[in-house]
Amino acid sequence: PGGVDAEPSGAGILSQTVLRGVSFTVPRGKRVALVGPSGAGKSTILALIERFYDPTAGAIKVGGIDVKQLDRRALRSQIGYVEQDAPVLAGSIRSNLLLASPEATDAQCVDVLRAVNLLEVLERSPRGLDAPVGEEGVMLSGGERQRLAIARALLVAPPILLLDESTSSLDGLNEQMLREAIDAVAENRTLIVIAHRLSTVVDSDQIVVLDHGRVVGVGTHSELVVSTPLYRELAKRQLLV
Ligand code: ADP
Ligand code: MG
Ligand code: MG
Repeated sequence: PGGVDAEPSGAGILSQTVLRGVSFTVPRGKRVALVGPSGAGKSTILALIERFYDPTAGAIKVGGIDVKQLDRRALRSQIGYVEQDAPVLAGSIRSNLLLASPEATDAQCVDVLRAVNLLEVLERSPRGLDAPVGEEGVMLSGGERQRLAIARALLVAPPILLLDESTSSLDGLNEQMLREAIDAVAENRTLIVIAHRLSTVVDSDQIVVLDHGRVVGVGTHSELVVSTPLYRELAKRQLLV
């Protein structure tokens, strides 16, 4: 396990085998969804790509290069990661956005807020980007916090984006806004999305179905509904976790 922001699902030492022979390819510029029951290993896959952990066997390659060969800075500039329930830090909208890219300009901040449809939060305070967030300042809903975290990741302009999309606590409108934000950032990017809702998944170029740390199906929505009983079950409930 890595630093304070590095636990994919709570604190703990990884002393069990979580993934067993997981193998799949994500074509450049495509959107791939990871789905499967809670505990299947979806977040762990993103944690491995981010190098919060290293696999005991096998390798993760980006453009043919093992991620272990990339230094921290190269990894961060290539791969953006938005964790499930990404926290909003005490401070202003600006300080939240600049976390990973301190030298970004105000214009760039406004651009990424626009990309995730969050310009409206700037209008809630006369202080704009300097508005404090949280109790003392601008209040953000769960969906807005999620989109602020996506905007923060976008500032780095990574060609690859990993999203642990949590829509479980979102109402219909916020869920739709999150989905639109994901659609907007999907352009010209490679996306790996842990998808919780069928609505996000049907638009994916490819879906990887996981169960107990194994890949049990890879394909499009219409292929998987036919070929993979677990996927059919999950899809019936509309919820893919
Ligand atoms: P998913 O995201 O599909 O719900 P996770 O990748 O979070 O699943 O977890 C897969 C398995 O790994 C679960 O059994 C979980 O309990 C275990 N796990 C996840 N993180 C840790 C950790 N830091 N230490 C120990 N076990 C963990
Ligand atoms: Mg989980
Ligand atoms: Mg998870």
